[in-house]
Amino acid sequence: MTPDPTVFVATSDLAGQMRGRSVPASALDSVLRRGVGWVPADLAITAFGAIAANVFGSTGDLRLMPDAATQVEIPAHKDDPKVTVVLADQTLPDGTPWACCPRTFARTALEDLRAATGLDVVASFEHEFMVAGLPKTGPFSFERHRSIEPFGSELVALLEGAGLEPENWLPEFGADQFEITLQPAPGLVAADRAVLVKELVRDLARRHGRRVTFAPLLHPDGSGNGVHVHLSLRDSTGAPVLYDPTRPAGLSALGHRFAAGVLAHAPALLGLTAPSPASYLRLTPHRWSAGGIFLAERNREALLRICPTSTVGGGDTAGQYNLEFRPSDATANPWLTLGVLVRAGLAGLTGEYDEPTIWPETVTEPELAGVPTLPSGLGEALDNLAADPVVAGWFDPDLLATHLAVKRAELAAVAGLDDVQLCAKMADVY
Ligand code: GLU
Ligand code: MG
Repeated sequence: MTPDPTVFVATSDLAGQMRGRSVPASALDSVLRRGVGWVPADLAITAFGAIAANVFGSTGDLRLMPDAATQVEIPAHKDDPKVTVVLADQTLPDGTPWACCPRTFARTALEDLRAATGLDVVASFEHEFMVAGLPKTGPFSFERHRSIEPFGSELVALLEGAGLEPENWLPEFGADQFEITLQPAPGLVAADRAVLVKELVRDLARRHGRRVTFAPLLHPDGSGNGVHVHLSLRDSTGAPVLYDPTRPAGLSALGHRFAAGVLAHAPALLGLTAPSPASYLRLTPHRWSAGGIFLAERNREALLRICPTSTVGGGDTAGQYNLEFRPSDATANPWLTLGVLVRAGLAGLTGEYDEPTIWPETVTEPELAGVPTLPSGLGEALDNLAADPVVAGWFDPDLLATHLAVKRAELAAVAGLDDVQLCAKMADVY
């Protein structure tokens, strides 16, 4: 007999891992009203499961307060009972916001963008991952698509059933690599879905006896797994505002200013969007991850790519027009990633920034030789983060200090490993 269903109340931490507590499904109503208990020091858990030295210590208590709108159901299957997963804000015991909650960080950034500019964000996170134990197949091949059935079709059905609006399910370029993309959605919804989609993929793979990994790189010579974040902006009437056909690459003046903030703060942002020691093995030129800090039209080496649009079949250019932030991966917390991109864009919209070059599609590699380089490692990215007063100023000091402590503890945990060993250690936990 299949056991009774449960409800898993979840958050995503600074290692980008979903953690939480479960209750019997019969308690759903009371849990939606009152939440479940949680512990401040949980925020200091590293990707490897240790607790980094932190400001919270052994005291203090929080609530995980579920947002009913995020509920997804994983149906019963064989011996596995049905489980409902619901994402939560971390609050103080009286229900008021906790200053270190990553989901609250994203929501506040979106609220501040709207208050200052009247704009809303539409976003989508694209996830690449690798599946162990499949036969060798070619990039983008039908053979690879079929090699994992019925997993692929079940995944698409699961995501559709859960309301996550899958868009593309594809065999990717790298060995054993696949990608799942979701439809664009309002900013917070998109980040919530990024938290959930990884776990739904992982859970379905487990039921198929398969192991998947979202680690940035499985082998130093292999293809990387990115989480590209697509962003567009809408005004208060819902009209898209990034497109202006009279300007270079069609990027509106407003979009150009938004991009300026992201590029200017990129060296620090990477400490949050690519926050694992292995992230920087992926972020090297010629991998189509991101090869430098630049904005370019339809160029997969760019940090910020102006994405293609298509008018075929009545496609609307302004509605599709979006910017893609490429140097992020699944070791990042999606709420923090979205939050810092929104804050950086808002800084660009409201502050004094140099307008970055919009490199045209025809740009050659020698022409790009002078663009600023990405941080060479996590240590450098964390130092940039701590040293950028604008970016550091977006965070509650305890949240920033905990992030830096967790990430420095992860660096210490991999000290002395060579790149092959480092990739393998990260792949073990992602
Ligand atoms: N796998 C590449 C990365 O690490 C992305 C390839 C693509 O453009 O989809 O980001
Ligand atoms: Mg891809």
